[in-house]
Amino acid sequence: MAGALLFSSRLDDPVAWSKALKTEMPELDVRISPDLGNLADIETALVWKAPPGELASLPNLKLITNLGAGVDPILADATIPAHIPVARLGDEVMAQMMAQFVTLAVLRHYRGIARYEKQQREHRWEYVLPRASYEVPVGIMGIGMLGGAAARMVSSIGFPVAGWGRSSRTIDGVETFHGPGELAPFLARTEILVCLLPLTRETRHIVNRDVLYQLPRGAKLVNCGRGGTVDEAALLAALEDGQIAEATLDVFETEPLPPTHPFWGMDQVLVVPHIGSIAVPEIAARDVVENIRRLRTGQPLLNIVDRARGY
Ligand code: NDP
Repeated sequence: MAGALLFSSRLDDPVAWSKALKTEMPELDVRISPDLGNLADIETALVWKAPPGELASLPNLKLITNLGAGVDPILADATIPAHIPVARLGDEVMAQMMAQFVTLAVLRHYRGIARYEKQQREHRWEYVLPRASYEVPVGIMGIGMLGGAAARMVSSIGFPVAGWGRSSRTIDGVETFHGPGELAPFLARTEILVCLLPLTRETRHIVNRDVLYQLPRGAKLVNCGRGGTVDEAALLAALEDGQIAEATLDVFETEPLPPTHPFWGMDQVLVVPHIGSIAVPEIAARDVVENIRRLRTGQPLLNIVDRARGY
């Protein structure tokens, strides 16, 4: 039957997604990879890291939806025909979940919780005077859908928040900076740096030694965008040196993080396995189906990625 949707992900639950998609569009024919059936039937695809060549094998494919916000894996697949539009997921629940994760990480660094976890392991009672949150500036690199939500949430609980992006943006209660020319003043005022950038040609290793050393000494880093945006060798050196006092890392240049990686053994580093935020099927299926309806009625599609920009 024409108009089928291919679901292809080794990470996400096909049963939950099929159910959510059919709730929104009961007649939708959902094919779960690798059981594609007649390839000519497939009109749209919902994928997370589809096997290379799988999408290119679909002669009537008209729309690819990336099962997540970060499209770097799809854009890196050179076998995907360039004329097929790529959409990304991104909704309020995904943004809220990320904003909560960032808030958790910021609060943990602000209140020195890693220090107390270590002290507890050593049965050591040592009091450090807390500072008021208005004295602790937080800076967020990448203030799009997720970074913007994080900036608003962290600002709402009393931190001075600034955001940095590619173009000029306004967010209530948040000081904004943009472009390479405004990176230095943004870094100079930031004690807790949150990285929520997409991985593109321009952002690979953007958080390098030079950037890390423009932060005040003893700054903290939270990375929940993409591992490749941070030069991990430079971060490791900056952590060993004390320039960066602590880090919360959700994403890594190589995932899963190899068992021998030094980050695992560092008291000042919290390693979590890429759990910052997800697309919740019942919520995200609404946008997937809305785009199928738009595609079929010739209306503009939602959340289309600019391939040249890379996000
Ligand atoms: P958006 O596309 O909405 O926002 C991206 C932001 O990054 C924008 O502010 C953009 O600037 C900025 N940006 C992009 N390139 C540059 C550059 N060269 N210099 C400066 N700023 C730049 O993305 P989302 O907020 O939805 O998601 C961000 C990333 O988070 C995703 O790409 C993904 O990699 C990651 N992610 C991680 C998850 C996790 O669980 N850890 C879950 C989901 C996503 P501008 O405002 O000018 O466009």
